[in-house]
Amino acid sequence: MKGIVRVAVPIRHWSLFDYTCEPVASIGSRVIVPFGHRRMLGFVVEHAETSEYPEDKLRCVISILDEAPVLSSLLIHSLQWAARYYQQPIGEVLSTALPKAIRVGKPLKPKFDIVYRLTEVGQQFDASELNRAKVQKKAFELLKSEARALGPEALRHIGSTWKNALKALEAKGLVTAESRYTHFSGDGQNLIDDLTDSQLKAREQILRALDTYRCFLIQGVTGSGKTEVYLHVIAKALETGGQALMLVPEIGLSPQLEQRVQTALGVPVTSFHSGLTDAQRHKTWWLALSGKAEVVIGTRSAVFLPFKNLKIIVIDEEHDTSFKQQERVHYHARSVALHRAVNGKFPIVFGTATPSLETVHAARSGRAEILLLPERATRIEMPTVKLIDLSRERTSDSLSNSLLSQIKKRIKSGEQSLIFINRRGFAPVVICPSCHWTAKCTDCDARLIFHQSDHQLHCHLCFKKFPTLRQCPQCLSESVHLFGTGTQRVEQELQREIPGARVIRIDRDTTRSYNEFERRLERIQKGEVDVLVGTQMLSKGHHFPNVTLVGILNVDQGFYSMDFRAMEHLVQQVLQVAGRSGRAQKPGEVYIQTMYSDSEYFDCIRDHDYLSFAELELDERRKANQPPFNNYALLRANSLVAGEEIEYLRVARETAMSIPDKHSNRQVRVFDIVQSPIQKISNRHRAQLLVGSTHAAFLMQFLKAWLPHLAKIPKKGKLRWSLDVDPVDFS
Ligand code: ADP
Ligand code: ZN
Ligand code: ZN
Repeated sequence: MKGIVRVAVPIRHWSLFDYTCEPVASIGSRVIVPFGHRRMLGFVVEHAETSEYPEDKLRCVISILDEAPVLSSLLIHSLQWAARYYQQPIGEVLSTALPKAIRVGKPLKPKFDIVYRLTEVGQQFDASELNRAKVQKKAFELLKSEARALGPEALRHIGSTWKNALKALEAKGLVTAESRYTHFSGDGQNLIDDLTDSQLKAREQILRALDTYRCFLIQGVTGSGKTEVYLHVIAKALETGGQALMLVPEIGLSPQLEQRVQTALGVPVTSFHSGLTDAQRHKTWWLALSGKAEVVIGTRSAVFLPFKNLKIIVIDEEHDTSFKQQERVHYHARSVALHRAVNGKFPIVFGTATPSLETVHAARSGRAEILLLPERATRIEMPTVKLIDLSRERTSDSLSNSLLSQIKKRIKSGEQSLIFINRRGFAPVVICPSCHWTAKCTDCDARLIFHQSDHQLHCHLCFKKFPTLRQCPQCLSESVHLFGTGTQRVEQELQREIPGARVIRIDRDTTRSYNEFERRLERIQKGEVDVLVGTQMLSKGHHFPNVTLVGILNVDQGFYSMDFRAMEHLVQQVLQVAGRSGRAQKPGEVYIQTMYSDSEYFDCIRDHDYLSFAELELDERRKANQPPFNNYALLRANSLVAGEEIEYLRVARETAMSIPDKHSNRQVRVFDIVQSPIQKISNRHRAQLLVGSTHAAFLMQFLKAWLPHLAKIPKKGKLRWSLDVDPVDFS
């Protein structure tokens, strides 16, 4: 039968394209279509009876690549939703969502290692009959003696012709070959039996919703047993043949976590993240599609995997900003995951000690259910929090005397201290004390940061390097010096103030490779370190039982940042770091250095009462009409020629104002054009225009009407623009 199929092609194009197709390719399958003078691979997204084009003008699908759908209709719905919601062409969303091999038309199933085992006939077979085929005999004997399936790593030693030998054995019916999807051979489940009362309650609530959509937030500090609850509910979802997806922040994915989940559930765990090769991504993608991967742990892009029978999604550290993609399709994995759960009618579980205010708001308005895990499963007390008032106590450098004396005390008693520096951006910068000149990047609106490692000044935006200088180029004063608190600076200060202290730094510079990070963590665990100095990387995922003192520096910029989420992120980080420390016998102490010691926010931190903080901050957001009480979209523009970005936004703003409002009062607010907080990156001048509406649906309608105008505004040569729905990064 002949019909019309509507095809999405994985390029930056807005519409679907109509083709005739005989036989009609099923929805979700790949087809090759004529496209201009080229051939393109596309996905059938819809069937249609009629087309806007005259039927005799429609071109014909050249070939159908897949008999069965590659993308389920559920997944197609979520992809189309993401395209609409984030105002991106469906083709662009497909490019983001699919591994390269699938986009270029390779076979669905990637190549896996083949493993061989003896058949029943083979078991009874007498090896002496193979005397004239030496390699075959060796292979046969090896398989017989090992009595299990063997792969290339075991077989290649028997001789260079081992593959042919095994083919011959297979032809004789002595050996069967199969793909090896995993190295894991589990020995059953290993879940903790005696859950605490609150863990049990959380588990029961979620299990009751296993075949329906519900959104749960497990709120509990690190060590309160959240992961154990995830594992219990995932185990249940697997029992009925379902699959589970666990999303973790970029930094949260570790071999230890994979190992733990694998051992607990007794099934292989497949991982998916940006560090994999195309081939590895293709493998995980196929394992999800075929249902062979029962549990996938992945970072944000795993939210687009094509599961055969997804039954639960868990998002650990739900508040983490790495779930939002900052380029091309600006999707938030949390939002896409929610859509998949609603659509697929299964529960979604968020877990964190410090939920995003969006999620707290959702809970308050009945869209999510909070399950509290108030105690650490390991019975470690939460640390006490004390403030060091910087308006009273003088510091010669970054560390106050009280903090230094606390650190010394810990070193004496063989305990560890952790100094957490909020934001790597507050690193040592070069300043002239006489005229206040500071060293800046020539291409970006950024102060240069001094790096001890190569004694150069680095730009953290474009990575350019500049020589260090002693003399101020403006007033020629010889007294230019380093200013600001960076990890390197604190490290030196510690070495100066506490001679002999063993200090280790954990930041992006020292831990570019995962292995280096692991090595440093190991030294800390072994007690080869007295003081850890670090940034954000320390606030996630790891527990440091021998750390009994946490010092927190540089919190104050949260009070005067331009980003309305700065305070939320600050409090999340402080509580996350505080939760890294201590063990059963010895609870930790946290010291925060601040000028704002009388702020209410610190009362919440002192009481480890994140939800009270969230209440306070939500009130502020409501008064200021900011998310989650408002929905934002940010139009960014940048250009090599100063002024062009503003001009583009000016025209964009005019068209925005001219879009007719379906409703009597203006439902969409168009803000003023502003320079971006970082005004220049790599010589591109940056500006932005915010629009917002209290109703997400109004905003979507508006953006849909606005976008065609944006694409049509005549662009001067080097201008680039992008639209970011629900922006989290305002820099
Ligand atoms: P979270 O995910 O909240 O950080 P975990 O689930 O990782 O917490 O639990 C922290 C530690 O406590 C782990 O070592 C875990 O094995 C252990 N644990 C969790 N639940 C229990 C329990 N009910 N009884 C004993 N130990 C538990
Ligand atoms: Zn000067
Ligand atoms: Zn730069």
